[in-house]
Amino acid sequence: MSCTSCGATLRSTMSDLPFKVREHTLVILKNLPVLECVHCTQYLIADRE
Ligand SMILES: [Zn+2]
Repeated sequence: MSCTSCGATLRSTMSDLPFKVREHTLVILKNLPVLECVHCTQYLIADRE
């Protein structure tokens, strides 16, 4: 799978991602499996199996 933005390789990693749920409320999801681009800041949330 390649980056949808620059075409570079995506690598699997675990990350903490903030999600905005309301105007002033953020929820941090910890240790989420993501695919992170090695070249730019693009990432995809990995599919759970
Ligand atoms: Zn990229």
